[in-house]
Amino acid sequence: MKGRFGRFGGQYVSEVLMHALEELEEAFERIYPTPEFQRELGLLLRDYAGRPTPLYHARGLSELTGCRVYLKREDLVTGGSHKLNNCLGQALLARRMGKTRLITETAAGQHGLATAMAGNVVGMEVEIFMGVKDMERQASNVKRMLLLGAKVTPVSTGSGVLKDAVSDTLREWARCTGTTHYLMGSTVGPHPFPEIVATFQSVIGRELRQQILEREGRLPDAIVACGSGGSNALGAFRAFLQDEGVRLYFVEGGGESLEADNSAAAFRLGRPGVLHGALMQLLQDEHGQVKPSKTRAAGLNYPGRGPELSHLCETGRVKACHAFDREVFEAVRTTCRAEGLLPALETAHALAFLLNHPEEFSRGEVVVVNFSGRGDKDLETLMRYFYGA
Ligand SMILES: *Cc1c(COP(=O)(O)O)cnc(C)c1O
Repeated sequence: MKGRFGRFGGQYVSEVLMHALEELEEAFERIYPTPEFQRELGLLLRDYAGRPTPLYHARGLSELTGCRVYLKREDLVTGGSHKLNNCLGQALLARRMGKTRLITETAAGQHGLATAMAGNVVGMEVEIFMGVKDMERQASNVKRMLLLGAKVTPVSTGSGVLKDAVSDTLREWARCTGTTHYLMGSTVGPHPFPEIVATFQSVIGRELRQQILEREGRLPDAIVACGSGGSNALGAFRAFLQDEGVRLYFVEGGGESLEADNSAAAFRLGRPGVLHGALMQLLQDEHGQVKPSKTRAAGLNYPGRGPELSHLCETGRVKACHAFDREVFEAVRTTCRAEGLLPALETAHALAFLLNHPEEFSRGEVVVVNFSGRGDKDLETLMRYFYGA
């Protein structure tokens, strides 16, 4: 069925939005493959975003693990994470559809920031919905968005966090689909969003495949990526789905522990349910109410896993794993010392899994970690954790 990955996905939205989703699907299929679109996007990815990102042979992490560890350096994309790959693509698409305004939501502020940047690049107005609690927690990213000229709208409904902001953004979109594009930030939401976001992020895996063949003369044994909705993971995985010899690991936020309300491990603790227009693996209580997720990495703090990722984990092609907060902070410190690189707390989930699960990786194996972002945004959290400052 259209827009389904196995039993996951779909379009669980109101009539008003169905028309906008059909328009978007038609436009994406028509515009994306054209040489003009590919050329314009390719130039922006190269000259503005800084692609291709390097594939870095991490000698320190290799020594610690006994593997040949490579890092796909998405932290070097302008803005400090993979988010811009998708934002540039959707902003260009929206402009070609004749839209004049972009709206979206953000939790950590990374996606809001990337949307504000992309909006300015293509010359569109930008409005970002953000939970009041998240605005307090991520004050510096709010300032950066304001400096870029975006309007930041506080959301105080529900618990004032990401899932409430998504609901408000969907409501706002229903009011003004004629002029406005909802720039979805991860591989979640109703069809065609998961497909569009994965397509724009799959530049990561295309580059990675070519780079590892040049460096090692063969495909990697494993790729490890962190995530919540799944955009950086699918971006890295998609080019390798048919290569059965390449093991794919998805690492979600284990939080403090897998007990009760202290985790974001939706694959371990959740079950299929509908959120924000799609059926996906979802943290929920016994009555089917969405449960808040909990992890110190704001970018992994979403209770759902996108439909494609949900399907790939259900079929076993991707192995769902988790890392706990304390392992994640340790992995940040280890990576700083061993490589001179400060990873984002999200990214450190993937590194923590590699460092703490020697049973999964044999000596000498070629392992690629998708290094989704840099940790500058997490400085305050890190200082508090390590130095109580
Ligand atoms: C947003 C973010 C993530 C999680 O989002 P996905 O869509 O699952 O990739 C991971 N890492 C970083 C650095 C992020 O900013």
